[in-house]
Parts: sequence; C-alpha cells; structure tokens
Amino acid sequence: TTKEILSVLKNETSKSDYDRYLKQLIYKKISSDDNIAIFEVPNKYIANWIKSKYSKIIQHCIETIDGTKPTVEIKLTGEKKTKKEILKEQVGKTDVESTILNPSYTFDSFVVGSSNQMAFNASLAVSKKPGIQYNPLFIYGGTGLGKTHLLQAIGNDAIEHGRTIIYVTIEQFMNDFTFAIKNKNMEHFRSKYRKCDVLLIDDIQFLSGKEQTQEEFFHTFNELHNAEKQIVMTSDRLPSQIAGLVDRLKSRFEWGLTADVQIPGLETKIAIIEKKSELNGIHLEREIVNYIATNLDNSIREIEGVLIRINASAALLNQEINLPMVQNLLKEQIKETKENIKLPDIITIVAIELNIKPSDIKSKKRTAIVANARRIVIYLARELTHNSMPDIAKFLGMKDHSSISHNIKKANELIEKDENFKLIIENLKNKIINRG
Ligand code: ADP
Ligand code: MG
Repeated sequence: TTKEILSVLKNETSKSDYDRYLKQLIYKKISSDDNIAIFEVPNKYIANWIKSKYSKIIQHCIETIDGTKPTVEIKLTGEKKTKKEILKEQVGKTDVESTILNPSYTFDSFVVGSSNQMAFNASLAVSKKPGIQYNPLFIYGGTGLGKTHLLQAIGNDAIEHGRTIIYVTIEQFMNDFTFAIKNKNMEHFRSKYRKCDVLLIDDIQFLSGKEQTQEEFFHTFNELHNAEKQIVMTSDRLPSQIAGLVDRLKSRFEWGLTADVQIPGLETKIAIIEKKSELNGIHLEREIVNYIATNLDNSIREIEGVLIRINASAALLNQEINLPMVQNLLKEQIKETKENIKLPDIITIVAIELNIKPSDIKSKKRTAIVANARRIVIYLARELTHNSMPDIAKFLGMKDHSSISHNIKKANELIEKDENFKLIIENLKNKIINRG
C-alpha cells in the first residue's frame, strides 16, 4: 500500500525531499505479470525529479516489503501510459549492479575543507588500496555532512576499477538477513555478502540493540576482514558511543581507522554551494551564495534542498533567480533558525571570537575593542533574532535604545565599506547559526 511504501521510503531519504515531494506519491497498482509498480504525483516536474533521483530507491523499498523488484514508474496524476510505453522507456536503463549508488556521489563532486579532510583522504586511500591499509574504515559525524557521499564515492570508484561492491544501510542488511531466515535461504545471503571485494555499510549506529543482526554481522565482518576485503562503515557517532553494541564489534570497528566529518566552515560551505549549483546547472550570484551560506543551518543536505527549491521556483514559476526571491524562499526556514538563537549565545560566541570577556560586553567599558564587540553583538542580535531594539538595549544594560539603532546604522556602514569587518560578521554569523 501507499502507506507501507512511504513509511519505508521515509527512512531512506532526507526529510526535506520526503516532506516536499516524496510524500505526495500515491501508489496505484502493480501489474504483477509485467512487474511494474505505478505511482502518481500531481506535478510533472516532481514526477521527473522523483523518477531520476528515487526510482531505484523506491524499487528497493518495495523489495524490502514484499521481496519483489518491480520496475518503478512515476506518472502525472491521470496520465495514461500503456505498459508497452513504460517498458520501452526502461530499455537501456537496466543496471548491471543491483546495488543502488548515486552516480553523482563521487570524489570529484566532493568539496574538501578542513572539516572533512581526514575522512576524504582516508576514503581515497581506501580506494587506492582496498583491504590493505585502513580496514575497516569508520567514518562518523553529524547528519548531512557527507558520510553517505564519501561512502558511495568509494563504491563508485571501486565499480570503475571492476571490483564487486555491496552498498547497504545496516537496516537493509538486517532486512536481508531476516528475509533470508524466513525463507531459509541463509546460504544465498552469506555468499552474497562474503563474496564482495568492498562492503559499504551506511548508518551502522542502527545496529544498536539488534542482537541477532550483530551476531550475523560479526561473522560477515570476520570473513571479509580475514580475506583482506575492504569494509567501510558510517555512523553518526563513534563505535564506543553506540549503545547496545557488543564489545567485540566495538573493538573491531576500531581496528582500522576512524575519521570524522565536521560542520564545514564558511569557506567550505560557500564552495559546496557553488559546486552544487554548478552541478545543477544554476548560476547563483555571489551575494546569493553568501546569503545561503551564512543564513542556513549546518546540514549540507538542507542547503541542497534549498537549491532544488530555487531551481524549481525558477522553472515552474518562471521567476528570475535574485536575492529577494531567495530571501523570500528561505523566510520560513530562517525564521525557525532565528527562534532558536538566544542573546546570550551571541554574546558568548562574539566574546570568544574577539578574545574578550563576555561580561565586558554588558559592562560600561568604552575601549575601542569592547565598543566594537558590543556593536557587533547589537547588529547580530537584530539580524539573527526577533528581539526588538528596546529588548536588546535592556539585555545589554543600556539605558536608551537610540544608541542601539545608531550602532546598527554604523555596523551597516562598515559592512558596506570595510571588507574585513564584513568577513568578521559573516564568520560570526556562521558560528552562531552552527553553534552547539
Ligand atoms: P550524511 O550521510 O553524512 O548524512 P550525505 O552524504 O547524505 O550526509 O550528504 C548530504 C548531502 O550533502 C549530499 O547531497 C552530499 O552530496 C552533500 N555533501 C555533503 N558534504 C559535501 C561536500 N563536502 N561536498 C559536496 N557535497 C557534499
Ligand atoms: Mg547518510
């Protein structure tokens, strides 16, 4: 049913893609003799987008539900297509590997910065000499920071070099395993996982508490490791921090190399936005790129969602891509971010970055350094929160709020003419939005 499929799909996709597009999918029917699953969506653009990005994933979801692997067709609501037409479109699209890899997740399309350098270099090293140097490789870090991208880049590279790979999330591994038990087909399961050259397991943290699967994975791991086959895993945390993971797996996961991905700094974020928009064929003015980079949250996935929306608005509503259009598009998202930022956060971060005491900012001191920091705090408080000028004055222990508006005016002037000041502000914004 639609509900079943969507609930599986929800776990396999990003929240923004799911909420905006995928949840509109309506499952129509499966014509079992031709093995076609048909879905409808109300909009042609969305249909094409889902088709190109998600049809294999949807196919896999259906497979995990009932074991069939139908051809997935996404149609416009009410559109008539004959089976013949659908099948004809699919010719030439059949893939050699059953593994779903996103072909755009390559090393080339990955932007390297200090936040992900270590994980990137380790992934490259593993691709050069699989099974030998760092085995297993364990990549960990927050969501949307490029773990899956790197994992699949290793996979895409391995395929290019003629190696057999398996890429699965640990949940798919578990489903496969349960399915094999149910159908008394363990032999097939075992040989499948043990004959690959490179095993790529995504989101291994979900092994937590799954004892039987851990047991099975333990054996898979040992066999592959003994045979010097490469194992790469990703997780949102370190092995030692995965609750309910048996010790022998914890220690094995640390046998090789653990490398983390962190929140990118502003420069890296800008480079990623530029790369992604180039790949999507959109040209964004520098001020728009800066706006997105400094106003959006940590997750690169979220930034990508925004680029897709910009693209969609431009295509569907025939809008020109300019700053007001982007600001308008991001209003809701930024509002959410704003509600989370509190004045003390701003003071703390500005004080740390400018190397002064937080208490100085609220004091009566008038040294140039303190006055400058105070100005920056005032400016950022207006930009990044919903506080009114009197609120800010009160918080800073200032008597009248005319000096607040004066400081804001002055800050705006400086941003206009002082490139250095502007950079400091952008960096601080980035730090405040990504704090925590
Ligand atoms: P994770 O698995 O860590 O949650 P993903 O690998 O799914 O994150 O990354 C989310 C999105 O952000 C993907 O589309 C990915 O291509 C993109 N992304 C993340 N980091 C980078 C990077 N350094 N360069 C280019 N794209 C990136
Ligand atoms: Mg991931």
